[in-house]
Amino acid sequence: MTTSSASELTDGFHVIVDALKLNGIDTIYGLVGIPITDLARLAQKSGIRFIGFRHETSAGNAAAAAGFLTRRPGVCLTVSAPGFLNGLVALANATTNCFPMIQISGSSERPLVDLQRGDYEELDQLSSARPFVKAAYRIARVQDIGLGVARAIRSAVSGRPGGVYLDIPGTVLSEAIDAAAAAGTIWRVVDPAPPQLPAPEAVDRALGMLAQAQRPLIVLGKGAAYAQADNVIRTFVETTGIPYLPMSMAKGLLPDSHPQCVAAARSLALSRADVVMLVGARLNWLLGHGESPPWSADAEFVQVDIAAGEFDSNRPIAAPLAGDIGSVMSALLDRIDAHRIVAPTAWTDELAERRAHNDAAMRKRLAEDPHPMRFHNALRAVRDVLQQHPGVYLVNEGANALDVARNVIDMQLPRHRLDSGTWGVMGIGMGYAIAAAVETGEPVVAIVGDSAFGFSGLEFETICRYGLPVTVVILNNGGVYRGDEPPVNRRVSGTDPAPTVLSAAARHELIAEAFGGKGYHVTTPTELQSALTEALASNGPAIIDCALDPAAGTESGHLTSLNPKSASATST
Ligand code: ADP
Repeated sequence: MTTSSASELTDGFHVIVDALKLNGIDTIYGLVGIPITDLARLAQKSGIRFIGFRHETSAGNAAAAAGFLTRRPGVCLTVSAPGFLNGLVALANATTNCFPMIQISGSSERPLVDLQRGDYEELDQLSSARPFVKAAYRIARVQDIGLGVARAIRSAVSGRPGGVYLDIPGTVLSEAIDAAAAAGTIWRVVDPAPPQLPAPEAVDRALGMLAQAQRPLIVLGKGAAYAQADNVIRTFVETTGIPYLPMSMAKGLLPDSHPQCVAAARSLALSRADVVMLVGARLNWLLGHGESPPWSADAEFVQVDIAAGEFDSNRPIAAPLAGDIGSVMSALLDRIDAHRIVAPTAWTDELAERRAHNDAAMRKRLAEDPHPMRFHNALRAVRDVLQQHPGVYLVNEGANALDVARNVIDMQLPRHRLDSGTWGVMGIGMGYAIAAAVETGEPVVAIVGDSAFGFSGLEFETICRYGLPVTVVILNNGGVYRGDEPPVNRRVSGTDPAPTVLSAAARHELIAEAFGGKGYHVTTPTELQSALTEALASNGPAIIDCALDPAAGTESGHLTSLNPKSASATST
């Protein structure tokens, strides 16, 4: 136990640092201020790495990404009220994505907050957090800090992972406690995410269904990537020969070039599959809510998920397999010899034919070389460089920048792609990129639209301050979706830019130069390719601003069907 003085008294600041360290928390992402500045200082002094951000949402996004990458809760530290609320956006996003994260926030004095006496940064943070998180706790006494930390860790990583809010009033942080007594109040959580095994009959039911299938399909989701059960998943896929479709953050779980990967025949796979096995993927909007279309009306579903409440949330699940993915896939493999599972050749041939056809269409598209650049030829250049660097972590957000990059850039390794996720959220870019670099020590390339970059762009200063190997490739078409919508007449005189339009020909690379990173402005795929090669070789911070045709891009990207239109909104 570290003490704040030579006496045998310590305080809440020290106890929380000790509790976090004891539980293996080695990094905190946050932004200091009242009342948690000394907490960050003490954490840093004790050997915990503190990464200080410019905005709490980005700190929270970094913590969430750290949780996804490591299976340990990523920790975000925020100040009271507004800082807390900024962080809460990321905590809610982490919960939605099933990433384990803990937001620890200082809060104002309870007697003042609860009687609404108008305290500095007054807010009932615990109640505010509750609807958005998996669990929320307040530590009201210094002797409960160890308990609060243990509850938070356990809640964040056990079962379905998610976001946990931990409220610590400033008064508790500075509360004194006898050091020896304090040491007895903290403990290390044993086996925070215990394996959960499926029932044997559930295993045989699922294998029986797969054995009957004429057109089986496996869908791998980011839960499968998170589970870090890569070998057993790969063995199951290859032993059965069943075609598989990776959801975007499951790309690379098996290499995208794998012969059983049917990402390039997605529509056909969804519409024709008769038995679908979902592994760590939800039948939410990203999979058409399980409806027909895109699925066949009589398709039957097997679902592997740690959260049994997920089953039947959109469509009947004929064979639910509740458990953690590693245990479930092992149990399936253990029993596989008792069932004859094959992927009929007629089905795999049908998919292979469509895949070849779509691959050829994509090759043709990528070979086009419009100038100014558009999304496809710019991303061809990025793809060509990244193929030489399979260990690079890819962060991806935007509308068209997300949709096109997901299709063009293959992943070769598990958990190397982080993106907008279940909410399709913008603003995760720099936070996720920072966490990927900090947690793995590997180079990171963030491919972002110019609009998406704006949500977290100033974190490039954070990237420079910590000297992180992050290259930000900004696909800059000067707008939200695109930048060519004409100006609109003001009521009295003059014009305003259309709502979708951002600064034309903005030079984002100058932001890199402002903070000591490398900046590149490129207008052709050749320039882009050499800038990215150079940036990766430098192993330091860089921004590559790619000048794209303002007319490149589709409104809402691939989500046009979710974008309600008015008959008159775009008429003049
Ligand atoms: P995607 O967006 O890639 O389709 P989702 O986020 O919708 O993926 O689904 C992930 C699912 O994985 C969630 O339902 C979650 O409960 C589940 N999950 C997360 N971790 C595990 C695990 N270790 N074992 C089993 N299921 C898991």
